[in-house]
Amino acid sequence: MSAAMAMIRPMPAVDLPAPEPPEAQDIVALVGQHTTLRSLGDKRWQGACPFCESTAFQVRRKHGTFHCFHCGEGGDAVRFLAKVNLR
Ligand SMILES: [Zn+2]
Repeated sequence: MSAAMAMIRPMPAVDLPAPEPPEAQDIVALVGQHTTLRSLGDKRWQGACPFCESTAFQVRRKHGTFHCFHCGEGGDAVRFLAKVNLR
């Protein structure tokens, strides 16, 4: 979200959990540059695995991690970048 959008967002009426650290939010944007992700809610995103192309690929925004239930690939943003650059 841009700074301008953040400024016009209305104040929350209830106490919200602490904001996620930026590095955890970044993995969805990072992985989204390599495959199309759709939100499953609960801060999880699913899409086609960039490594084996099954759709059992999930990104956990809250944890800043990814995991493919088909080929078993997984890790954090640093590992994703390392793996995707080796393709
Ligand atoms: Zn896979």
